[in-house]
Amino acid sequence: MLSSVETIDEIELAEETDDCQTGKLYCANCIHCKLVPSSPEGDERYFLRVRCAAGKWKKKLGEEKVYKYCTVARRSISSCDSYEDMGEAKEFIRDLKKSLPVKDEMYVF
Ligand code: SF4
Repeated sequence: MLSSVETIDEIELAEETDDCQTGKLYCANCIHCKLVPSSPEGDERYFLRVRCAAGKWKKKLGEEKVYKYCTVARRSISSCDSYEDMGEAKEFIRDLKKSLPVKDEMYVF
């Protein structure tokens, strides 16, 4: 089970614009950015979280960080040696922003 969620992170948050910023890598457009369910109570209820399957999102003590799915379009980084894009970032991020939930939502298996 994924143990914790960060709402503020060390990865720079992209500005809230409709356009991608030049020179930024958007984690959501990277093949290593994975959507995973997280059930804090271990029951049928879960939240959607994103994690970096390349292991780049870590807390100071080495524990893995995961983030709320609704924030994924805002996660960008200036460089990453494991970044593998899944296509044109500008279009992808624009479409993603339209489809993301506006807040953290609970789902049931
Ligand atoms: S590998 Fe790098 S660019 Fe890809 S999700 Fe992880 S931190 Fe983001």
